[in-house]
Amino acid sequence: MINPLKQSVTAVKGIGEETAAALAEMKINTIEDLLEHFPYRYEDYRLRDLAEVKHEEKITIEGKVHSEPSLTYYGRKRSRLTIRLLVGRYLIQVVLFNQPYLKNKIAINDTVTVSGKWDSHRQLITANEMKIGGTLGSNDYEPVYAVKGSITMKGIRRFIKLAFSQYGHLSHENIPETLRKKYRLLNRRDALHAMHFPADQNDLKQARRRFVYEEFLLFQLKMQALRKIERENSKGISYQYNEDKVKAFIEQLPFPLTNAQHRVMGEILTDLRSPYRMNRLLQGDVGSGKTVIAAIALYSCATAGFQGALMVPTEILAEQHVDSLKALLEPAGVSCELLTSSVKGRQRKDILTRLHEGEIDILIGTHALIQDEVEFKQLGLVITDEQHRFGVEQRRILREKGENPDVLFMTATPIPRTLSITVFGEMDVSIIDEMPAGRKRIETYWVKQEMLERVLQFIRKELQKGRQAYVICPLIEESDKLDVQNAIDVHITLSSYFQGRYQIGLMHGRLPAEEKDQVMKEFSENKTHVLVSTTVVEVGVNVPNATLMVIYDAERFGLSQLHQLRGRVGRGSEQSYCILLADPKSETGKERMKIMTETNDGFVLSEKDLELRGPGDFFGKKQSGVPEFKVADMVHDYAALETARNDASILVESSYFWQAEEYQALRTYIEETGVLAGEKLD
Ligand code: ADP
Ligand code: MG
Repeated sequence: MINPLKQSVTAVKGIGEETAAALAEMKINTIEDLLEHFPYRYEDYRLRDLAEVKHEEKITIEGKVHSEPSLTYYGRKRSRLTIRLLVGRYLIQVVLFNQPYLKNKIAINDTVTVSGKWDSHRQLITANEMKIGGTLGSNDYEPVYAVKGSITMKGIRRFIKLAFSQYGHLSHENIPETLRKKYRLLNRRDALHAMHFPADQNDLKQARRRFVYEEFLLFQLKMQALRKIERENSKGISYQYNEDKVKAFIEQLPFPLTNAQHRVMGEILTDLRSPYRMNRLLQGDVGSGKTVIAAIALYSCATAGFQGALMVPTEILAEQHVDSLKALLEPAGVSCELLTSSVKGRQRKDILTRLHEGEIDILIGTHALIQDEVEFKQLGLVITDEQHRFGVEQRRILREKGENPDVLFMTATPIPRTLSITVFGEMDVSIIDEMPAGRKRIETYWVKQEMLERVLQFIRKELQKGRQAYVICPLIEESDKLDVQNAIDVHITLSSYFQGRYQIGLMHGRLPAEEKDQVMKEFSENKTHVLVSTTVVEVGVNVPNATLMVIYDAERFGLSQLHQLRGRVGRGSEQSYCILLADPKSETGKERMKIMTETNDGFVLSEKDLELRGPGDFFGKKQSGVPEFKVADMVHDYAALETARNDASILVESSYFWQAEEYQALRTYIEETGVLAGEKLD
């Protein structure tokens, strides 16, 4: 079935090659592209009653010319035409700049329509448009489109009108009637019409509602189909793990699991038992106890005779994880080894051999783990920590390593639900939304840079109690010399301030790996008391004796990152503090600082972050996999997103969906995305 709307815009009578070329510059190639070039706002030409209009509001009104208009020139080209207009029982002034020719067209008692800004104090409209007899615009709501190059507003309006009148009725309905009825959605043709030529606000609202649902439904169908396909195509491993042993292992832990940890553990164990391959995202705030979940999962896998891998982004983190996992797992008879690029020579060879022979149960390390030379005997489970920066495609590559291992992604960046079901739409999501009991709130203060002296005293007080402190300086890029300088400067300042009493360490991304490790080691052994660092300590580092986090230029960080940094303290039993040194210029900057002082809840912060920064910027990097929608807004249309996701997941699971005629359009859409054929996404 050929879709006539997929033809080039030149198929529209009235659009020639030249126009088509100009439209192509705007990425409008097909008739469909043109019809889906939606207005970004509407000019409101409704006639208003002056009594209801607020000061400085933009309005359109109709009135009678009351007296001879007066024209004043100032300069050669600049002029002002003033008209006294009777609008109902009001006599107001209308001012038009630089349109002197209108003077002779207007006569007393003419009815005119003007549009402009209302000054209620002076009872005056500064008009930008006027029409004598008849209405402004062809509609109460005139669409305003993005335009570019030689395409004018008038032009694009005309082209869309032409396209709609010739092809609008041929627009393929893609939402089946059952769903359209269920949600009382406009059909596609009517919705297109209402987007471009709305009769009133409600018309517009209904049109938007339909397209929001359509966009979300299509997107979620792609994600849910991918999820289904991956489940079915992957002969995952069904682990016969030893339930008694796993239970005993959990019971001998130094603490009882929280309810949230229990729930999440259940979800993961169910995945491990099932013949599907696990593809799960585990979210839990900093300190919520993800490591122990990883340990239990790896242990379960080991009791079933499989090996496991834990992959983390930095060497420091890898070493810390080795330590904590060894402590948990080795007493239970499960062997753990570390593999990073610093492990070299004979030691490396030895590890690789033992791994291949199955003598090592769990391998922990950086990306070095999934290189070709690393061969497991029987890899069953891969866990990655802090991998939220990966897009859909990278996640897929990882899953394709080895013989279909189960994959668990862990992240401490609480991701707003609306983003997690779009960006991670093809994955199952588990959330630890509860902190272990007895955790103290980290007291957070926001101070101006000029308070630095007081901050130094505060640091001294903590050090006197035997505690340690982090001092973070911002860093835009790993290689940004200026900012490294910043950390170096602060290090010099603090070293002289605390000279002879306390040791100050310095850490930044440009140090060689061995030196970084050395610096970190000294800090964790309390040989240095203050660690001045760039954001390299952001992820996962664990020094329970550190109780103070000072962040310089805090306004330069996003909320999620501030929260991550703050999470480096509050890991022991002592009260911890976070001090934000910041002089934000913008309102949102101030708002961020304020929110930080008000809440410790990562999920609340992430929702706020999304609100303040918008979905595209949330992950702070390009290619974050955040989809773009024409009409829908992930944050504001959140309810529709949830609905569409549920509908999509029910649809792809039903065999009726894959056969029935009414779903043909949706199936065609899924086919075109390439998901079914296992093609690259995006
Ligand atoms: P994260 O989720 O940030 O990786 P960790 O796994 O490092 O958190 O856990 C933070 C600290 O909390 C660790 O010292 C860990 O031993 C401890 N912990 C984890 N779960 C619990 C629990 N249920 N009760 C008490 N302490 C716990
Ligand atoms: Mg962790």
